[in-house]
Amino acid sequence: MSDHRHEDGPRRPGQVKEITSLANPIIKDIKALSVKKNREASGTFMAEGLKLVLDALETGWKIETLIYSKAGQGKPLVERAAARTIAAGGLVLEVSEKVLSSVTHRDNPQMVVGIFKSRWQSLFDIRPKPHETFVALDRVRDPGNLGTIIRTADAAGASGVILVGETTDPFALETVRATMGSIFSLPVTRATPHEFLKWQKSSGTNVIATHLKGAIDYRKADYKSRPVVLLMGNEQAGLPDDLAEAANVKVRIPQQGRADSLNLAVATGVVLFEARRHLLTLADIDG
Ligand code: SAM
Repeated sequence: MSDHRHEDGPRRPGQVKEITSLANPIIKDIKALSVKKNREASGTFMAEGLKLVLDALETGWKIETLIYSKAGQGKPLVERAAARTIAAGGLVLEVSEKVLSSVTHRDNPQMVVGIFKSRWQSLFDIRPKPHETFVALDRVRDPGNLGTIIRTADAAGASGVILVGETTDPFALETVRATMGSIFSLPVTRATPHEFLKWQKSSGTNVIATHLKGAIDYRKADYKSRPVVLLMGNEQAGLPDDLAEAANVKVRIPQQGRADSLNLAVATGVVLFEARRHLLTLADIDG
């Protein structure tokens, strides 16, 4: 028995359900999580990978179901995840590789999958503090872009991502995959454009909108004197006029070559790390 099993208490026989049939109703319910409406109704989502699942458990995310393939049987870290799931009142399933492939839509699935309770931060609970940076995304459509932005925002030390208007779901499997675990680190908020505009007025933030027609070079924006909201436009249409006009400043990233614009996630990364550079300089001076 590993130290961790000791810490969490041993798993007793009968606490793990074995499933080999694709027709099992529990598996059908889990597969249904590939549809947004079902994720919203259950308030749950799927995340793959043993390390990621353990990290999520350790940071207090509520697990409903842990699924592992037979290959994981007896592995200390899988046992640890199973014991924690049982301790949290969740269900543990040992399944065939075929079942795991069908749940994750992958030929070579990860050995472990967790079904977690989704979490949304309420917009009006966000009270930005000095030196904090948030990313606000207008109608982001592409799951890969959203996942990459959540991952990049996490890496750049941002405090949260605000999804404005009709957006792709941060808890979709493709998005969760692209976050590489950052979905568990960075709070995600959703808001209508009206709610966002109301919040920004009272938030005390400097809203920096990125725009192809921005008058200011992004390197000259003020990232220091107030908390920053970096506002990014939709992949196809860019920012609508109401959001762009309400921002404190519109910045552009000067480009060379023939491309009309940068990919949304790339543009977000460029400006986020510029903001970080300004803040780190300030920290160095203060320190
Ligand atoms: N056709 C769209 C337009 O007219 O804005 C292009 C949208 S671009 C793919 C997606 C978003 O990335 C833009 O709305 C903007 O927020 C940001 N972006 C991309 N390239 C940029 C640049 N060179 N300067 C400023 N923002 C940029």
